[in-house]
Amino acid sequence: MEQIEILDVPFSRLTDEQVFARCIEFIGAHKPHMVITAGPEFVMRLKSEPALRALVSAADLITPDGIGIVLASRWYGQPLADRVTGIWLTERLLSYAYDQQLCVYFLGASETSLQRALQVLRARYPGLNIFGRNGYFTPDQIETVLADILEVKPDVLFVGLGQPRQEQFIADYKERLGVPLAMGIGGVIDVLGGTVKRAPVLLQQLHLEWFYRLLREPSRWRRQLVLPQFAFASWRDARERRR
Ligand code: UDP
Repeated sequence: MEQIEILDVPFSRLTDEQVFARCIEFIGAHKPHMVITAGPEFVMRLKSEPALRALVSAADLITPDGIGIVLASRWYGQPLADRVTGIWLTERLLSYAYDQQLCVYFLGASETSLQRALQVLRARYPGLNIFGRNGYFTPDQIETVLADILEVKPDVLFVGLGQPRQEQFIADYKERLGVPLAMGIGGVIDVLGGTVKRAPVLLQQLHLEWFYRLLREPSRWRRQLVLPQFAFASWRDARERRR
């Protein structure tokens, strides 16, 4: 089975390399596609705000971005091998874009953070067609944002406005923009530019990245309160489905 439904969100069972291969197919297909990388917070948000469920139908692929999703998959009796994170997929697509001379666009983060990321990426991938715009715009500026993306005509659009706003943006405008691959990337621009540090590799391997983020940004604890709720809800859902 290619998918596993966790609390009614269909997660792909593809490995990271298979997800990457699917993204390449999307880029080559010349019609708009949306990839969502989703963790427990996103699943719980959809559960409490049914209006957001349309995002699930608008997505072509939803990857498990969070150890919570991988652990929950075991309760459903269909264990996922690993996470497929937004940062991993972004990096993989960037080096592909560099090799294939594609054009990429980053929409999101503060102006300083965005410029830092663009600078880092231009140094790492000299000559890569890379554009961007910060993510702080008002509703009446949306037309200018869209016009800028339309002018650049990127092959890949990375949107880092935070969830679920980034997915809503893609769902609302993907047809108009006609970008073959658009994906929400949360705080990845901040990480690429070094504005936010990623957890040390050891903590990443121990799946304690969330804990590191909590220590660095204690204000996130409120957001993370949703994790035990997710654990309970998915355990109960899995039990009901397996009956
Ligand atoms: N952001 C933005 N515009 C806004 C609000 C947030 O561009 O109006 C950016 C913010 O600067 C950060 C990203 O969205 O780079 C959200 O990061 P976070 O780590 O909160 O995202 P998550 O992956 O948790 O959704």
